[in-house]
Amino acid sequence: MTESKRYFTGWEGQRLEAILAQCRELIEDPSYPTVKAWRADGGKVLGHFQVYFPEELAHASGMLPVRVCGGETDCVQAESLFGSYLCSVIKTSLDLALTGNLELDLFVTHPICDAARNLGGIWDRNLPYKGQILYLPQNPNSRFAAEYLTKEYRRVMRDIEAVTGHKITDDDLGASIAVYNRGRALMRELYRIRREAPWKVSWDESVTLTALAGFLPREEFNDLLATVLPMIEARKTRQQDKMRVVFEGGFCETPPMDMMQTVDRSCYVVDDDLFIGLRFILDDVSAEGDPVANLATAYIDHSSYSPVQHDARKPKEEMLLHRIQNAGAEAAILAAAKMCEPGLDEQVAYSQALDKNGIPYFVTEFEENQTTFDHLAIQLETFVENIMFDEADAGGLRVGQGGA
Ligand code: SF4
Repeated sequence: MTESKRYFTGWEGQRLEAILAQCRELIEDPSYPTVKAWRADGGKVLGHFQVYFPEELAHASGMLPVRVCGGETDCVQAESLFGSYLCSVIKTSLDLALTGNLELDLFVTHPICDAARNLGGIWDRNLPYKGQILYLPQNPNSRFAAEYLTKEYRRVMRDIEAVTGHKITDDDLGASIAVYNRGRALMRELYRIRREAPWKVSWDESVTLTALAGFLPREEFNDLLATVLPMIEARKTRQQDKMRVVFEGGFCETPPMDMMQTVDRSCYVVDDDLFIGLRFILDDVSAEGDPVANLATAYIDHSSYSPVQHDARKPKEEMLLHRIQNAGAEAAILAAAKMCEPGLDEQVAYSQALDKNGIPYFVTEFEENQTTFDHLAIQLETFVENIMFDEADAGGLRVGQGGA
């Protein structure tokens, strides 16, 4: 592996539609060809389960950080190691590793739920490399939280250094922080376009581009996004009379692309929480002083929200209301992955807050490998029509899509 080598080629010089098609093909390829090519060149790979991991730590040691977020696989091997009443992303993530599609050198998970907590041990026992747990602070409001997290990051750094044989210096980490700051700024720009001119980039196109950050070397991702964003801005797509909605509930398991396209046909999804871990830090992280402590402070004080981070300063209902307001949305889609306890719990709190504020919302569930969305399409269309044509009292309008 060399720093300048590119692993996703062929898109340079292409038109926007051709680039997006290649990106989509790559993110839907469960064999992770670019990750395999990285390893074939002698590179090491750190896989981390949802939601947030400070990828800079792996990058600074020369590893490729890869977001482990499920994918297309039959789950035969993983199902023999799990109970059946679990969300899909847990099973498909492990299956991709057991089948050799996703080859790693270190795996890190987080205790975001019982299933994810147990994943570390199962991974460690069944794959020939270490499975580790990163304990992000349960109480980020404690005045010791940043200090605790700095130590926790340093503990994981020792595992990373053991794999690469490269001790991470402050300069290494400062350089990696700069690369990731650029990537986050570019993703913020993509989301700005979504909010301001959603007709220029569809929801699934935007998610396709963001998903690449989960497994491409970040420098490559940055260059691709920096090339594509002006093309999107220059797109001559006509604005349509669609309702603006925020989609909430994709913080861990990701809804299928076909579901996004179904929603797109009725609405402009002007903001969402998909791949939120890649966008969790909201501002540039400073490389001055102790960069490990800076990363820890950024997680605690300059971060977004998700149902698996419990911070009294960020009541999730208020955060969702802010997201809706900031995006100029008229309604929300409150989704949850099937069997996802944190997601389903939050749906209740979110719907109560939206009721109180008279914001219409649509409740649904999804599974990453779901293939039919006819029912969703009809219900969503009815929901949108009721609001847009004022045939019903839109305030607090709730449409459920149980079991779709
Ligand atoms: S989708 Fe929900 S239940 Fe499944 S791993 Fe993620 S947080 Fe846990």
